[in-house]
Amino acid sequence: MSVVKRCFGKAGWASAFGLWVGAGLCFSSVAHAFTLSYSSALQGWQGNTLSFAVNSSQCGISQAALYSAIDDAIALWNRVPNSRIRLSRGPEVTTTVAQALAGNAASGLPTTLILCDPNMQATFQAGVSPNLDPDPSFTSNNIPGVTLPLPTDLTMDYAVLVLNSESGKSARISNLDSTVLRVVIAHEIGHVLGLGHTQDIANLMYFDASERAKLSLSQDDMDGIAYLYPRTELAGNGLYGCGTVQRSGGTGGRGPGARAAAEILIWLGVAWLGARAVRKFSKWRIA
Ligand SMILES: [Zn+2]
Repeated sequence: MSVVKRCFGKAGWASAFGLWVGAGLCFSSVAHAFTLSYSSALQGWQGNTLSFAVNSSQCGISQAALYSAIDDAIALWNRVPNSRIRLSRGPEVTTTVAQALAGNAASGLPTTLILCDPNMQATFQAGVSPNLDPDPSFTSNNIPGVTLPLPTDLTMDYAVLVLNSESGKSARISNLDSTVLRVVIAHEIGHVLGLGHTQDIANLMYFDASERAKLSLSQDDMDGIAYLYPRTELAGNGLYGCGTVQRSGGTGGRGPGARAAAEILIWLGVAWLGARAVRKFSKWRIA
């Protein structure tokens, strides 16, 4: 939104017609409104699949309810057509929060873990592991989930997703309705995949996931995941079999070149009309 405002803000109405011609350029700069977590140079996970091991033992909700929420959150990301990565729920494990937060890709633990912390505030205030700086201001009152991504050389290879199950805290997951729980888990999985926060509430990766009442991905969310995990078509030889199909009985199809030329001509015409309108308007004002 802010980019669009900047594009149109200083324009007078007299130049609106001409500005319309440039609007396409402005809108094209709105794309890629996602951010990456950890570093703007972050690479995603290697490979095409990622399996989330789960320790549901301290979550304060039934294992079935947790699994159902995780499965729905995973399915949401799996529906992005241009992303190659496919997620799944892995085995139930007994890894503790302390073990998981102290681990890394070389520690032999599952590399993607979802677990719950009934002592979340103390855990994150104390730091508990070399991977985690102590944060005395951390409060679990309004934070339902936290993700700790631990990439190696800017490539994702280990991440821990901690859900809040702290007694007496309003953000503990047993207090969330089923949709918000799914939104929270899907948002944290976005961090596991390598996405950072955005400032647009329309995005799942908006910094306050609990503000969203619907489990869905925006175009920005999908662009982010497709950027980190582009589909590799015809992987191996880099060959792309594109072409123009000619209609049978016709005198030849109009290929992409002809279409591009036609579009350029149309835009030149629009620009000429816009310039003429601006000149005419200026004359009226002088008169
Ligand atoms: Zn977040």
